Amino acid sequence: MLENKNNYDAIIVGAGISGILSALILSKNNKKLLVIEKDKNIGGNCRTYEIDGYHFDTGPHSITGLKNGPLRHLIDNYFSSTPSFVPIKTYYVRHQNKFQQIPLTLSQLSRFSIFSKKDRIYYSLSVLDAIINSSINKSVLEKDVYSYIKKYKFSNESIKFIDVLSYFLSGKSMKETPTWRILGGSGYIDENEDTSKQYIKKLIKLLKHDYSSQGYPLGGIQSITSSAIDSIPENKVTFKTGEKVLNFIIKNKQIKGVKTDKDIYHSNLVIYSGFVKDLPDLISNLEAPYKNNLQNIKQTKSLTLWLGLKKKIPELNYNGTEIYFNSDTPYWAMPVSNFDANLAPKNKQLVGFTTILKKDREKQIEDLKQTIFKVFPNIKNDIEIEHSQVTIPEKAAVTIGIKFPSPKSPISGLYLVGTDTDMRSMGITRASYSVIEALKFIKKDGFLI
Ligand SMILES: Cc1cc2nc3c(=O)[nH]c(=O)nc-3n(C[C@H](O)[C@H](O)[C@H](O)COP(=O)(O)OP(=O)(O)OC[C@H]3O[C@@H](n4cnc5c(N)ncnc54)[C@H](O)[C@@H]3O)c2cc1C
Repeated sequence: MLENKNNYDAIIVGAGISGILSALILSKNNKKLLVIEKDKNIGGNCRTYEIDGYHFDTGPHSITGLKNGPLRHLIDNYFSSTPSFVPIKTYYVRHQNKFQQIPLTLSQLSRFSIFSKKDRIYYSLSVLDAIINSSINKSVLEKDVYSYIKKYKFSNESIKFIDVLSYFLSGKSMKETPTWRILGGSGYIDENEDTSKQYIKKLIKLLKHDYSSQGYPLGGIQSITSSAIDSIPENKVTFKTGEKVLNFIIKNKQIKGVKTDKDIYHSNLVIYSGFVKDLPDLISNLEAPYKNNLQNIKQTKSLTLWLGLKKKIPELNYNGTEIYFNSDTPYWAMPVSNFDANLAPKNKQLVGFTTILKKDREKQIEDLKQTIFKVFPNIKNDIEIEHSQVTIPEKAAVTIGIKFPSPKSPISGLYLVGTDTDMRSMGITRASYSVIEALKFIKKDGFLI
């Protein structure tokens, strides 16, 4: 390729965490990289910003797999500046006057008084049943959660809890969520392992659960993005923000570069971290079967309402997160300033409440507030600031029968990263898996020395 200011060794489209991690890895090998981000800020859904002394993440975040997951692997191998994590002690469920840990072991389950005694037995049986049956025939875990549990006569309240858990773990209801996602997301099975093997190990996991691998990043979620950027060697990567990639330039099924709303850039290696569902808009003549599969991908929008509180309230004085399920507007909440006091002004508190966006934003904010006020009747008087966000947490929901596309696209030299190219885990852990997988293909195809 001719020397030209717009020629690059690699172009990365999108500066969310998967784009930034890709840029970091490539910067250790390639000389001249370009990252193009359509938003004016870098970080995508992994960002923190300040308003009136409160530091808002793009949603409440709990980072998993910090002991030996994919983000840990990337931090250990590529980061020179590392984020610090405060351990997340536990995940709670709040119901009427009860506040209990989400049961992750059989012994916790036996004491989970939010379920009736009968439902605790049903729940234990359904988990054991899924683990043992999947060791004989692993396809049983592909069934939707509801069809798996319906033979047990759970109360309506317990069904509602399982449905809300499905939404928070897959983005969709229990009738659309495969059973393996709930078992994996709740820590009962390891999604990296073949479900037909090592079921004894899985059964032992039901007796003992290790929380030590979950944490909240000090300084807010942005600190992961910032540490990755700080770890990029100087002068290797050019960042262009506020510039949108409109098309990929392709010749003979080989990527040649990208066209944006401002310019044209050339490279034989492009990593795309935007929505794979948008690929047909960026590539004309994409093969029909591939395109059809992308059209089946579903997404879920979330609404987060952040409340900045004039004082710390006793009900939210814990180091963890909570689910409230008994409402048409259930929430997942996290008092983030309990992990890092600097996220709120001195002696004040910041808590984020996330729900699924199912209707008009303003109406849903009102409904969410009604749920919050029902649970914490006195919180109203302590609100100093309200801030809401509508986001798509995962670029693809894990639904029955869906196949996520491989990080290697049908176009030579074009690779895909992000939460819609790997089905394991969720969020930043899933994005990290996707980057590691894409890297394997990029290496194999000879783009890395
Ligand atoms: C409310 C909420 C709660 C969450 N909780 C957790 C949690 O507890 N734990 C966890 O691990 N994760 C959590 N997540 C999810 C996590 O934040 C995301 O999965 C992760 O940040 C996604 O990273 P990504 O790089 O795949 O995508 P994104 O962050 O979406 O990045 C993609 C980027 O590409 C850019 N882009 C797209 N198309 C173009 C184009 N054509 N040209 C230029 N730029 C483009 C976008 O603007 C964006 O910046 C949560 C997210 C939300 C919203």
